[in-house]
Amino acid sequence: MSERRDHGRVVVVGAGIIGICCALFLRRRGFAVTVVDPEAPCSQTSSGNAGGFAVTEVMPMSAPGLIWRVPGWLFDPLGPLAVRWRYLPQLLPWLVRFIGSGSAANIQPRARALAALMTSTFDDFMPLLQAAGVADSVISAGALTVYRDRAASRADALEWQTKRACGIRCEELDGADVHDLEPDLSPDLRFGVFTPDWRHTLDPHRLATALVDLLQREGGAVRRGRVTIVESDHGGTHSVRLQDGSALLADRLVVAAGAWSRPFARQLDNLNVALESERGYNTTLPTPGVQLRREVIFAERKFVATPMAMGLRIGGAAEFAGLTAPPNYKRCAALLNLARTYLPALRTEGGSQWMGHRPSTSDSLPVISRSPRHANVFYAFGHGHLGLTQAATTGRLIAELACGDTPSIDIEPFNVTRF
Ligand SMILES: Cc1cc2nc3c(=O)[nH]c(=O)nc-3n(C[C@H](O)[C@H](O)[C@H](O)COP(=O)(O)OP(=O)(O)OC[C@H]3O[C@@H](n4cnc5c(N)ncnc54)[C@H](O)[C@@H]3O)c2cc1C
Repeated sequence: MSERRDHGRVVVVGAGIIGICCALFLRRRGFAVTVVDPEAPCSQTSSGNAGGFAVTEVMPMSAPGLIWRVPGWLFDPLGPLAVRWRYLPQLLPWLVRFIGSGSAANIQPRARALAALMTSTFDDFMPLLQAAGVADSVISAGALTVYRDRAASRADALEWQTKRACGIRCEELDGADVHDLEPDLSPDLRFGVFTPDWRHTLDPHRLATALVDLLQREGGAVRRGRVTIVESDHGGTHSVRLQDGSALLADRLVVAAGAWSRPFARQLDNLNVALESERGYNTTLPTPGVQLRREVIFAERKFVATPMAMGLRIGGAAEFAGLTAPPNYKRCAALLNLARTYLPALRTEGGSQWMGHRPSTSDSLPVISRSPRHANVFYAFGHGHLGLTQAATTGRLIAELACGDTPSIDIEPFNVTRF
């Protein structure tokens, strides 16, 4: 990975965790890399997520039977799903594709594609984190998914079957084992599944910004600016225009603008990718009064709690309201109300609230792809709930494509033209 050749100039659009990991792998392959972002690097979705290296989460979001659960969720004020009704007309095409992708026949191939993508998560990530000096912020304690009882877990039977079929280790636990692992959970939780391969970070923002520093130490550049348009000449050089009127020349271009990536695929390839902002919320409690040792997933109410350096982070929810509507922090309060029922000693004072835009595709697979029109344009976006987990492997695959290597896994399922 560290061999250096001069492969020319690359501009990466977007300095989230995906763009930064792409830039690092490209830099290590010898490219002169500039990452451009109007905001501080890794200050958007990649700054405040739940911190899970969720390598076990191979189940696509749209699955058989989901549609029947949706109305109940939508009308439940504490429910995991919300749509701002004024946004529904814009959401509809994505929603139709999302529901359409949830047939039983579709699940296994997509799950296998996600499993293949996440097999090398730690092999790809850990060397970067060691070089960045933040490997110690990754905790290998597995994750615990909890239910009221075994019967309640049957609603997720297909999910567990799918995970096992992909070779993921899932250990069923009775109530006593659940409370041995996490004594502060309510005694009402009497069934759990422990997935030992999951890890979590104590601080996703610190981790991401340490990678930004590493990139700069290794000679990559990070520049503030909003990319407005990309002009390509016939020789394959791109002029990347910024809002301030300046332009950067690039021999290769990587689009890694997270939930904001859609217009670039439209402009460069005339593609209408099914990408939406799936807004998620959390609250980080500095003095939670309870202690968890690992990430806990409260499966029936679809939220998670992660023990972090700055407190206990409680979050989840999926809200469809687009990229510009203001956050509705009532969703944070709703999640804390739920959390109190499962963590009876929880203290919720002094929490800091956060909202982020998951870049979610309709089929829950990311886009990791060469452009069909431009041999030297690459797409790396749409990682939905799993962008932290998949970032380093995405970066390695994009560097392989940019160098003309055969990608080390089959990336056809992630092709940008599939929508
Ligand atoms: C509540 C919540 C919890 C989550 N928990 C987890 C988890 O536990 N594990 C996990 O793996 N994932 C998790 N995720 C998902 C993960 O955070 C995202 O998938 C990931 O951060 C996406 O990274 P990104 O780099 O694609 O996007 P971003 O971090 O959003 O970066 C995109 C960047 O593009 C920039 N940009 C936009 N327009 C332009 C433009 N015109 N020119 C230049 N730059 C532009 C933006 O400013 C932004 O900085 C969670 C997400 C949420 C919301």
